[in-house]
Amino acid sequence: MTRPTLGRARWWVAAALALVGVFVLGATAVRFAPPGSTVAVWWPAAGLAVSFLLATARGARAWLFVAGVLVSSAAANAYGGRPPLVALCFGVANAAEVAVVYGLLTRGGRRPALASMEDLWNLLAATLAGALVFGLFAGLTVSIGVGGPFLATASAVTASHAAAVLVFAPLGIAVGTRRTRRPGFEDLVQWVVVVGLTTWVFNPGQALPLAFLPIPVLVWGALRLGLRTVAIQLLVVGVLAVTLTSIGGGPFAAAARVGGLRPETVGALTQAFLVTAAVTALSLAVASTQRRAALADLRSEVELSGVVLDTAASAIIVVDRAGAIARLNATAARLLGAAEAELVGRPAAEVFPVDDHERVSAQMAGIGEGAVPLHEEQDWRVTGLGVRHIVWTNAYLTDDTGHRTHLVKTGVDVTDERAARTFVEAVLEAATATAIIGTDLDGVITLFNRGAETVLGWRASEVVSRKDWSLLHDPAEIDRRAEELGVEPGFDVLVHRVRGGAATETRDWTYVRKDGTRRTVSLTMSGIRDEGGQLTGYLGVAEDVTRRRQVEVTLQVALDREREAVEELTQLDRTKSDFVSAVSHELRTPLASVLGYTEMLEDGAAGALTDRQLELVARVDRNGRRLLSLIEDLLLNSRIEAGRLELAPRRCDLSDVVASAWTSVETVTAQRDLVREVEVSPRPLWIEGDPAALERMVTNLLSNAVKFTPDGGRVALAAHPDDRRPDTVRLVVSDSGMGIPESDHERVFARFFRSSAANERAIQGSGLGLSIVRAIAEGHGGSVSVASAPDEGSTFTVCLPVAGSAGPPTQAATRTYRDHRDDS
Ligand code: ADP
Repeated sequence: MTRPTLGRARWWVAAALALVGVFVLGATAVRFAPPGSTVAVWWPAAGLAVSFLLATARGARAWLFVAGVLVSSAAANAYGGRPPLVALCFGVANAAEVAVVYGLLTRGGRRPALASMEDLWNLLAATLAGALVFGLFAGLTVSIGVGGPFLATASAVTASHAAAVLVFAPLGIAVGTRRTRRPGFEDLVQWVVVVGLTTWVFNPGQALPLAFLPIPVLVWGALRLGLRTVAIQLLVVGVLAVTLTSIGGGPFAAAARVGGLRPETVGALTQAFLVTAAVTALSLAVASTQRRAALADLRSEVELSGVVLDTAASAIIVVDRAGAIARLNATAARLLGAAEAELVGRPAAEVFPVDDHERVSAQMAGIGEGAVPLHEEQDWRVTGLGVRHIVWTNAYLTDDTGHRTHLVKTGVDVTDERAARTFVEAVLEAATATAIIGTDLDGVITLFNRGAETVLGWRASEVVSRKDWSLLHDPAEIDRRAEELGVEPGFDVLVHRVRGGAATETRDWTYVRKDGTRRTVSLTMSGIRDEGGQLTGYLGVAEDVTRRRQVEVTLQVALDREREAVEELTQLDRTKSDFVSAVSHELRTPLASVLGYTEMLEDGAAGALTDRQLELVARVDRNGRRLLSLIEDLLLNSRIEAGRLELAPRRCDLSDVVASAWTSVETVTAQRDLVREVEVSPRPLWIEGDPAALERMVTNLLSNAVKFTPDGGRVALAAHPDDRRPDTVRLVVSDSGMGIPESDHERVFARFFRSSAANERAIQGSGLGLSIVRAIAEGHGGSVSVASAPDEGSTFTVCLPVAGSAGPPTQAATRTYRDHRDDS
């Protein structure tokens, strides 16, 4: 509701005009007062003032206007011929009345309205209060000032003022209301009838008591044309009735003429007529407005609920007492496979696609008796969707007498959820060896699967909703962990990390089973979150790892022991090597001396020897040299083992090394019946190498070839550049001897390896030769390999990098290479 607010200047003008109106109406009323009466029959000035205030004024302005009313009314009374003091008193009384009515209708800052019966009551009460105040003032003024009767005066003016205010005030209130409809032909007809009829009823030629006639027409207006029209018509009817009555027209004036009624009584009858008309018309207008508003509300409410129903995911079906469908929403229509219009009115039992039609029929026939349970589940065969499982919540509607009139069924299709749940349940149950435990945020167990029953020995029914998960743990362990985390012992210890934001946490825990035994489990804890990401609980997946952990511990102990044993053995080995090395050193010097003396004997330093003596000395010399060679091997091996194979590389020609080695084995080979071939590249084969070590390498290979080749065989030595790799030179020692089985190809390079064939045939050797060959070859950045088969001879090939190529060792004068150990 909006109230027109006048601009400041316009308000002053309007207020001034209203006050002039108050003066004119007041003066006229005094003038038209029945002859002999001390008061006026009607006081429209009060009505005008109240109406103006209600329509426009607020706050301070209102009280200024009230003061204006005082002046204007006093002036009107004085102008009407009343003594000045009496006129002033009437002015005060008028102002007080206006103030009371206005004050009551706007008390508490509210806006005057006529929207409800309560508003109408307020208006009537305020009007009456204002009129009583005026009556009191006027009665006192008349009785004290003019010596008139107090009670008669007071009652007469109270009625006249009440009527005037009641006829005027609604207009002041209604000005601010919105017009709800456009005026039409009906308005015109009603207006003509109301004005015509009132004029006719109250015209001076009319003496019949037809005062009631305008009332039904006002009621017509009230019911159909709105509050504003009623307010204006009340005013018009009031003015017409009062004016025409005052000039002797209408039933009341006629009654005065015929029945000798006093003028005050005529006035009172007119007021009564006006009050009746006003109360009747206003109450009907308010009621009708309220009804229209309520209907509009209801319509929008119905529309809204229709939309809500149709957009609801649940199926909603209303069935009447007779079992027929009264209403249903779009979801229900979809499930039933037909449009709402087709379904309404049909028997529910016929339409519902259930198997058990008889039971549903019986239920639907018994709606009045409450035969349908409040919760039920049904399988519906829905076209295109198959069988849907629907959970129904039913409610009855009852009439005023408490009889059931309708059944409202609200159904939710839970088919998919049930299927998903069954699947999840199956998964949980299938995990018989894995404990899956769910809890709420406080740790109360909500899920305890078969695996959990197995691992912990509790039944789900004994723990779900009953126990805090941490109670299934070893309390001492919980306490320890609580201390580590700095939290209180309890459930929080288990979920601290996850609650702190970690996606999962996996660690070992000790479970205490129902029978008191303990199990070690590996527990992975994670959070359960709702769609909004809010934590709603926890899920733990635990695996019994007791045996695995025991095995791990045992394994660890065994490993530790083995490591200790290895360390001991290594130590022992080192001691042995040191011993061998020391002994070899000690042996070398005297042996060298023995060989020196043997040479001197051969050279005749102790006089000429006989052939027999020479032969014996030669044998001493040969065996001495073999012994020296063995000692050299042992010393070299010790150095290799200690990682101290010291090489002194320099630029040298491999051909020289080969020739020198060939010569040094000459003494041995010469005594054997072997074909010997040596083939060396005519061009120098420059390499960066230690000539002594290289010669030892070639010597070892050559002496093996000689040792393992029976008489009549062939031993060959070749050294030449590699055809395919220009940065490499190849040294090949081959023989036609006993050969090496494939399975031993790699092992022959291991230290102390001797083939069983070598042992069986008592071929001398230490098993160190080839390991030294490999150490020297690799010490020069090269490699050694063997190609051989039993009884088909053997070919050992050494590849070495040529001098100046990328291979080592060119920079350092002396380099140390690690021993190559063959662990096979
Ligand atoms: P040793 O010759 O002192 O036994 P080696 O390390 O030189 O030790 O050789 C290891 C083993 O490799 C020999 O015992 C033998 O079985 C095998 N072997 C080495 N060279 C030959 C070869 N030319 N022909 C056959 N077997 C060989």
